[in-house]
Amino acid sequence: MKAMNLVANLAPVTSAERDPRWAALVTRDPAFDGKFVYSVKTTGVYCRPACPSRLAKPENIAFHADCAEAERAGFRPCLRCRPNEASLAERHAAVIADACRRIEASEEVPALDTLARAAGVSPYHFHRLFKSITGLTPKAYGAAHRSRRVRDHLSDGKGSVTEAIYDAGFGSSSRFYETSNKVLGMTPSAFRAGGVEAQIKFAVGECSLGAILVATSGKGVCAIFLGDDPDALVRDLQDRFPKADLIGGDAEFEALVSKVVGFVEAPGIGLDLPLDLRGTAFQERVWQALRDIPAGETVSYSQIAERIGAPRAVRAVAQACAANALAVAIPCHRVVRNDGGLSGYRWGVERKRALLLKESRS
Ligand SMILES: [Zn+2]
Repeated sequence: MKAMNLVANLAPVTSAERDPRWAALVTRDPAFDGKFVYSVKTTGVYCRPACPSRLAKPENIAFHADCAEAERAGFRPCLRCRPNEASLAERHAAVIADACRRIEASEEVPALDTLARAAGVSPYHFHRLFKSITGLTPKAYGAAHRSRRVRDHLSDGKGSVTEAIYDAGFGSSSRFYETSNKVLGMTPSAFRAGGVEAQIKFAVGECSLGAILVATSGKGVCAIFLGDDPDALVRDLQDRFPKADLIGGDAEFEALVSKVVGFVEAPGIGLDLPLDLRGTAFQERVWQALRDIPAGETVSYSQIAERIGAPRAVRAVAQACAANALAVAIPCHRVVRNDGGLSGYRWGVERKRALLLKESRS
């Protein structure tokens, strides 16, 4: 608007200056790109309205609706603004669209350098361009695309949630869960189930026995898993609570995890957190009997069976131990064979040995 006033004040004398398109040339307004071109009689070339070349004298300028009209009038395209080729905006859009296809076809988002090289621009320029056109960084675009694939997999109802996550190119399901709430609006299990049974918060940490997963429901701690592979622990949690809404723990949750880790390192101190047991009546009787075994002692499966008043249910006692989801908090590691042998342990017999050794020393 300012420019128009400026132009008006200059009291136009030539027909070019009286043309409403003249202001676009003076301001080099890119918004007029593609709307018309102008030719310069003295040089014989025609230009885009925003051509960066020095503007010719108005008496030598003529306006044309498009390139074809300018060329019919005998003008050549300017080598600087290349009015007969795709505009810069169009070329940028094509380059970024190409980069998007590349990202979609890759398991991992390609390195910025790689994407920039393919686009023929510097990494810095590429990153800025990508963001200005898609509204996302290449990395975020890759994450959003993978999440979309998970959503499609989940919607078709085939395969497990974990399969869908891995099929979509997420290297780890915990990484996926960090972002799934944002992307799906809910977590995959809840999405698949079409509803939410319960919200379960979880986090995976490290303790002297390896990886440890801690999860809580609204009622209390509902899972303590031990293992070598954090992702396998997350899969276990998923299988255990298939209809639950699994949420990655926040900073506040970290405090609870360290509390549980502290307890696993020194079970003698006890865990003063409510537990959410979720077993059958029989299982819960067994688990209660296990919690009555002091640290540093072991009992046999038949002794537990006797203690709960079901002396013949030794096998069922062993099964209830194996179904325990709360490692150490329900100390199934304190149950041994009648001959004192270690027998199995859901989280590995070496961990059972380590726990018992630790408890016998304290
Ligand atoms: Zn030009």
